[in-house]
Amino acid sequence: MPYLPSDLRDLHGVGPRLETSLNQLGIHSVPDLLFHLPFRYEDRTRIHPIGGLYPGARVLIEGEVEHSAIVRGRRAMLVVVIADGTGRITLRFFHFRAAQKQQLSRGTRIRCYGEARGGFKGLEMVHPSYKRILNEQDEAVSDRLTPVYPTVEGLGQASWIKLTDQALHRLREGQLELEELLPDDLRGNLRIPSLATSLNYIHRPPAGADVAALVERRHPAQQRLALEELLAHNLSMQQLHLQQRKFNAPGMVNESGIETDFLARLSFRLTAAQQRVVGEIHQDLAQLHPMQRLVQGDVGSGKTVVAAMAALRAVGNGYQAAIMAPTELLAEQHLRSFTEWLEPMGLKPVWLSSKVTGKARQEALAAIADGAPVVIGTHALMQQGVNFSRLGLVIVDEQHRFGVHQRLALLDKAAAESLHAHQLIMTATPIPRTLAMTAYAGLETSVIDELPPGRKPVTTVAVSNERRSEVIQRVEAACGEGRQAYWVCTLIEESDAVQAQAAEDVARELQSGLSGLSTGLVHGRMKPAEKQAVMDRFKQGDIQLLVATTVIEVGVDVPNASLMIIENAERLGLAQLHQLRGRVGRSELQSSCVLIYSPPIGALAKERLNILRETSDGFRIAEKDLELRGPGEVLGTRQTGMLQFRVADLARDQQLLDRIPPVAATLLNEDPSRVERLIRRWIGDSERFAGV
Ligand code: ADP
Ligand code: MG
Repeated sequence: MPYLPSDLRDLHGVGPRLETSLNQLGIHSVPDLLFHLPFRYEDRTRIHPIGGLYPGARVLIEGEVEHSAIVRGRRAMLVVVIADGTGRITLRFFHFRAAQKQQLSRGTRIRCYGEARGGFKGLEMVHPSYKRILNEQDEAVSDRLTPVYPTVEGLGQASWIKLTDQALHRLREGQLELEELLPDDLRGNLRIPSLATSLNYIHRPPAGADVAALVERRHPAQQRLALEELLAHNLSMQQLHLQQRKFNAPGMVNESGIETDFLARLSFRLTAAQQRVVGEIHQDLAQLHPMQRLVQGDVGSGKTVVAAMAALRAVGNGYQAAIMAPTELLAEQHLRSFTEWLEPMGLKPVWLSSKVTGKARQEALAAIADGAPVVIGTHALMQQGVNFSRLGLVIVDEQHRFGVHQRLALLDKAAAESLHAHQLIMTATPIPRTLAMTAYAGLETSVIDELPPGRKPVTTVAVSNERRSEVIQRVEAACGEGRQAYWVCTLIEESDAVQAQAAEDVARELQSGLSGLSTGLVHGRMKPAEKQAVMDRFKQGDIQLLVATTVIEVGVDVPNASLMIIENAERLGLAQLHQLRGRVGRSELQSSCVLIYSPPIGALAKERLNILRETSDGFRIAEKDLELRGPGEVLGTRQTGMLQFRVADLARDQQLLDRIPPVAATLLNEDPSRVERLIRRWIGDSERFAGV
């Protein structure tokens, strides 16, 4: 295909200012314009009789001006009354030019589009868009629905129409380089229109098109684009992982006996699932290219010990292992487990987080550069100035909270050396299939699908805050039997300070209500050492009731705790509630979880609480979570802009995903240039993976 100019500047009416606005929206070429899709449509294809209007109707009407006047009140307003023989309606304009009153003089015919509302004297429209009917040409009614585009300040809908009109015209005339990239195999029995047909339809649907389907993006024309977009994301992730695979990595074999030694010291036996997953990891580590494995396992399934077995294989081969977790608390929990397990074997983990400063930091950095075998920390591990030595394995826990960028940044650290590190990703929230197929496409997957023996499912109840005193009695009873309890105070989107305050208040309330019990408090404003001291006392049983903010969401491991109380549970998401609940049920004790809510609560919140009462299956909960909240939040990446789809929606378009893997595999093998073009079209060669 010859090169066809597609610069935005070639379009009528596009100057430097408009170009900048378009660039802000990620639109850099004429084809890009066509991938900027309307989010709703207005039906201006039919003129409605004024007499038949009802409040709330968004319609096109036409009539003759009976009366127009500027009414002066607190603010001047242009008031125009029009009639069409079936009825009359008042139009109100708060912003107007003096000339408008002249234009809308008595007897003028005008056509308006707007929403009818009930006013003082019958129906009215506030600021309808309108045009005067001056000649026969003006009479024609559009035979297409009018698109409404997402936009930015200073770029009106009329401009969008002009721009997309030009782009669509070029498309129809074959003047746009807009290649059909969706492989035939993907069409299956979806009645999929061609790319050009789809774009034409989406930008200018005919009168009578199914607007509801269009707005929900379920129309075949849109589904086709969604399919292509999902394919592009899948390919881009797979390609990324394939590229990694081409590097050299240290082959690690079992010859040191260090793992046998470790297992012999462990107070429990690995479950069959843990053994299987460790086997899979060890097999990968023996390869001469980097492992890229995702380990999924529900809360409490015992991922930490699996991570330790992986780390030991690296250490036994003379390589460094780094373990990174997204929060201070979770990383600290790993530090504790690893220290408990490894220190007796002469392997003291080195700790690094952003809170390690001054001399301690210098020492940690020196130890890391000097080849300390096991390094544990937060994202501080990725920062400049951290130099690993013979880094052979990177373990990332709860990776989806980091996002792809950060994971790769840590790998880049290792890439500075001649060999690339192996990579193990662990996630506690099971990943719905849909996300696995996009965000994690191309990773090998292991599932720890078995809990340690003797675990009983946690019984879950939801009770209203009005029954708080009963809940307090329940805490008393459990602690009286020698168990321990958590009481989690939740405040959403409040500062650490406000959260801490709320937790302090609750702690005081409970302390006075339960004077016989010893109560402790942890929140995000405490120094790590203070937090640690409280956690240690809780772990040793000196503290019976631990009041906490959601800082304890992940990583806390006190098997004797069998009661979890969560306040304001209606405000939390499913995944978070599931994580919190996972703090109990970690032994053979029968545990329970009480979700306290403050009525009245909305339908969605009620549904969330019901799901938790019904199931403890992390996979089901994750699927539901995705359905109720959308992928950005499930992945915790809403702010990073990752996984922001233009058309696709992982919850809505699940049925499309099944088609993707086989086609993607074929494309990667047989048509790499199409893969490139698909990725460029949908994802761009943006700075997506450039650093943190
Ligand atoms: P996860 O990180 O998957 O949520 P952890 O690794 O924190 O789970 O393990 C939860 C608890 O179960 C810990 O107390 C851990 O020591 C214990 N545990 C792990 N594996 C086993 C096992 N095979 N048998 C008994 N207890 C186990
Ligand atoms: Mg864990």
